Amino acid sequence: MSTITLTGIEKRFGHDVAVHPIDLAVERGEFFTLVGPSGCGKTTILRMIAGLERPSSGILEVNGREMFNGRTQRFVGPEKRDLALVFQHYALWPHMTVFQNVAFGLAGRPKAEIKERVGRTLEIVKIGGLEHRFPGELSGGQQQRVALARELVTEPPVLLMDEPLSNLDAKLRIDMRAELKNLHRETGMTIVYVTHDQIEALTMATTMVVMREGKIAQIGSPEAVYSRPASLFVAEFVGNLPFNRLEARLGADGSVTGRGFTWPANTFSPNGGGRDVVIGIRPEALRLQGSTGALPLETRIVSVLPAGSYTVAQAEVAGGERLYVQVSDDATVEADGALTLYIDPNRLLAYDPATGDALASA
Ligand code: ATP
Repeated sequence: MSTITLTGIEKRFGHDVAVHPIDLAVERGEFFTLVGPSGCGKTTILRMIAGLERPSSGILEVNGREMFNGRTQRFVGPEKRDLALVFQHYALWPHMTVFQNVAFGLAGRPKAEIKERVGRTLEIVKIGGLEHRFPGELSGGQQQRVALARELVTEPPVLLMDEPLSNLDAKLRIDMRAELKNLHRETGMTIVYVTHDQIEALTMATTMVVMREGKIAQIGSPEAVYSRPASLFVAEFVGNLPFNRLEARLGADGSVTGRGFTWPANTFSPNGGGRDVVIGIRPEALRLQGSTGALPLETRIVSVLPAGSYTVAQAEVAGGERLYVQVSDDATVEADGALTLYIDPNRLLAYDPATGDALASA
């Protein structure tokens, strides 16, 4: 049974639609992540789940209980939803120490248990040793971690989080992602997590929802969203290297003819052939060595861009289009050199140039 179910949930602010009617089901134990560019409606969805925003229509259920019903106008307030929240803008009690702030939710428990649980939680969020400080004596990132600890310490069955790592520096953010992921695995709690950072979604989510302009652009496992993006929008939003596009003609026999390259019949399923397409390729799907069945692409290296732990090269095909290639560790490439790249046909993607949607038959 789903822990949280949204059926036709919509949110309008006056005439503006922030969230078009959507259906979502969060299963128990998921790390369910809503991701998308600023203004796409993800915070509004989280606030509706929390009960901080009243939907305009639809039905919302939490743990099998109806929290909102647009037809009957039933609405259950946030305090009665049994959900823990960590928001980007958090409020700590300024007159209480870190320890007291975190221990607040454990009031009534034996002293020794409180001490042990608060201590453990502060270690998880990496602020052990600061328990006697007051919030005013902490950095923004440290305060954010106290707010997180305050919710985690109660081990809530469902935790809603909105950009909880946004105030942290890059290194700490990576550490905290690992901690949150471990914590999720160990406790089995259900997490609904909002972020604009696609890497955060890819690294932590069990299910990710990519949002665009108040609508769901794609929902699936991070692996599926990354390797089979449903549209050019998703392909370009997700991934830390630029997504490559090539304009081409898909033949009725499944062959592909681009500007300066041709791939044989049945490169794609012939169904729906005889049309213009945009071929999509992730940079790491372009290889310097070909295995059996790989499709060749003649290029010239335009520039080589080492980035410390990996190297990216920009390669130009005969027709002038440029592609990014992630060069594997043991290979060397030089600018101005000719280079044949190879692509596993299973990693080729094809999109409709007009709508940007993935071709169903490809
Ligand atoms: P961000 O990453 O910038 O927080 P978001 O994806 O979380 O963005 P929302 O905060 O959900 O986006 O906002 C969705 C849309 O609804 C935006 O266009 C926003 O301007 C609008 N909106 C949100 N809250 C209100 C409000 N209280 N009144 C009017 N419009 C609002």
